[in-house]
Amino acid sequence: MLLTEQAPSAIKNTVGCVLVVEDEAIIQEAIAFALRQDGYSVLLAEDGYNALQIVKNAAKLDLVILDLMLPSINGLDFCRILRHEGNNVPVLMISARGNESDRIAGLEVGADDYLSKPFGMRELVARCRALLRRSRRDFLATNVTVYKFGDITMYPDECRVTINDAEINLSPKEFRLLDLFMSHPRRVWSREQLLEKVWGVDFVGDSKTVDVHIRWLREKIEVDPSDPKHIVTVRGFGYRLG
Ligand code: CA
Repeated sequence: MLLTEQAPSAIKNTVGCVLVVEDEAIIQEAIAFALRQDGYSVLLAEDGYNALQIVKNAAKLDLVILDLMLPSINGLDFCRILRHEGNNVPVLMISARGNESDRIAGLEVGADDYLSKPFGMRELVARCRALLRRSRRDFLATNVTVYKFGDITMYPDECRVTINDAEINLSPKEFRLLDLFMSHPRRVWSREQLLEKVWGVDFVGDSKTVDVHIRWLREKIEVDPSDPKHIVTVRGFGYRLG
C-alpha cells in the first residue's frame, strides 16, 4: 500500500513556519514558546549544519531566526550558503555580540534584520511579523501578471487595459476575449473554443456571437478595425493575436 506523506498537522493553519537556529537551549526554548503562542509552527536546530539539512527538507519555511555563534557552521556562513543556493527565506539574525560590525556582517551576507541579545520576546515576535509581512508583500508585488503586446498592456488582476498608456473601456466579454488572446499570443482559437472559454459550455447560441464581439473588440484596440493588426482572422480556423 502506498502511503501519502502528509505535512504534520502543526504546520497547517498556522501563521507561518519558523526555523529557530540556536545552540543555547534556554534561549531556543523561550523563542519557540513565544512563537508558538503567536500561532507559528516552529522547527528547531542547534547548529548550522543541522539547520541546513532542515532547510533542505522542510516542505514550507517562512522565516529563519539565526544565532550568529553556532557550532559546526556559524550563522554568517549558514546565511552565505543559503543565499548562494538561491534561497530567499527571510533571516532574522540574533547575537550576543551586538556591536556594529557584527550587525553589518550579518546584513552583508544576506540577513534581513538583526537583533542583539538580550531582547524581549515581544520585540522578537513583532520583528518576525514585520519580516513576514514584507516578504509576502514582495512576493505579491513580483507576481503581478502583466501582458504586453505591441501598444496593448493588460493588467488582468486589475481588469485594466491600456493602449499607448491610455486606458480603454472593455465590456466583460471583450475583456475575457482579450485576456485569452494576450495570455496565449499567436495561438489560433476556433470560434467554438472561444465560445466555450468566454461564454461557457452552457451558452446557447451560435459562433456568430464570437464574430460580433471580435468586431467590437477590434474597434477598441485596432488603429484600423477593417485592417486588424492585433487580432487577425485565420481563414478556415478562427482568430489569433499577432
Ligand atoms: Ca550561540
